[in-house]
Amino acid sequence: MAETLYESVICPSCGCLCDDIDVVVADNKVKSIRNVCQWGINKFFFTKKFTSTVKRGRVERPMVRENNLVETDYETAVSRAVDILKCSRKPLVYGLTNSGYYAQNVALDIARVLKGWFEPRKAVLLSPYYSAMKNSGFYIAPLDEVRNSADVIVYWGCNPVHSTPKHLARYSLYPRGRCKERGNLDRVVFTVDVAENELVRMSRRYLMVEPGTDFLAMETMIKLLKNEKVEDYEGDIAAIQDMVQYMARAAYGAIFFGLGLSRNGNAVRNVETLMTLVKELNQKTRFVIVPLYDDFNTNGAMQLLLRELGSPVPADFSCDHPADHGMPTLLENLHEIDAALVVGEDPFWSMPSEHSDQLKKIPIILIDPFWTRTTNKCQVVFPTAITGVEAEGIAYRMDGLPLKLRKVLETDYPSDEVILEDIYHRLS
Ligand code: SF4
Repeated sequence: MAETLYESVICPSCGCLCDDIDVVVADNKVKSIRNVCQWGINKFFFTKKFTSTVKRGRVERPMVRENNLVETDYETAVSRAVDILKCSRKPLVYGLTNSGYYAQNVALDIARVLKGWFEPRKAVLLSPYYSAMKNSGFYIAPLDEVRNSADVIVYWGCNPVHSTPKHLARYSLYPRGRCKERGNLDRVVFTVDVAENELVRMSRRYLMVEPGTDFLAMETMIKLLKNEKVEDYEGDIAAIQDMVQYMARAAYGAIFFGLGLSRNGNAVRNVETLMTLVKELNQKTRFVIVPLYDDFNTNGAMQLLLRELGSPVPADFSCDHPADHGMPTLLENLHEIDAALVVGEDPFWSMPSEHSDQLKKIPIILIDPFWTRTTNKCQVVFPTAITGVEAEGIAYRMDGLPLKLRKVLETDYPSDEVILEDIYHRLS
């Protein structure tokens, strides 16, 4: 049986978008794969992320709801989806962080033509970050610059071991950089989180914070950097003092942060205070800040919003100014929504139940390669090719570098971009 070797394939599994993956394909199946982490293996072999011996169930045919979900042909599914969206006063277009950039663009056009709401997953944390970046004058540091120069790394509210496993090996702790030739011997890592995780063992110090109160630790650090008195901080002040000493003496520091900063609804305050901390650090040395994404094209969705609307906040096209509606995210305002188009996302797994319960009351159209907790709640379900494995696409790495995803397997499933285009053309 003939084998084909695909070299330097990009892994479409997390925001690292590692570009050194070698994949051997035989008989249109992945036979072996090199340089990839466990999460990436699961993506190429269609197995579950946390139980990699178990296959993920593919959605095999389009389905529409009669009493139950019943299989149908593609045209019927598209017609039903279009009918639902046309009858909606304000539909939600949601997810899209596991789609290519062009699919995201078509989804934005659908929201625009329907005067709906467009919200990428994780906007709750990333919209405040990109807004603050826009106003701060900072630039988003390339990961290669971090690898070459960073001697102090802080992971705040995120755990790369679980979300972006090769981040430590390729960009932060372990790699040898141009100015850090001894790799991890030339660097220190600090972890800040609400509970101990695997990263703590690799860290010089672990700072525990109460959920949602990260900004208190950041404010304390800012005071110490300004040589002001700190009397009222109730947490681990020794760890904070140690961190501040190292951060102030760093030649180049990098703070990676994640969804932990959005706990208890404090995303905006946490992100803005973190930005102030980085500004203060930059009075003394060089410090950068980069969000850590576990979905591979979260950054693409943010780049799209910035390019199309000039603002990184979710877009409400029912307003005259879609990017200026005074609502940080939709989650507080789900009651306005009367239909949802969900792409590559599982809101019944990822949203708090008080929010996903709202979705149970409205018709949902789902585009996803796999069965998820959301599938059975939908009116229309489209199976799709997996972007980066069975379909090509463009994705933006977590530092904003655009990369072209290849396909290594053939499939009869349409890509999410094709499905979205078919829906869009019938709407417009
Ligand atoms: S770190 Fe992310 S992109 Fe890299 S191989 Fe693992 S899952 Fe794929």
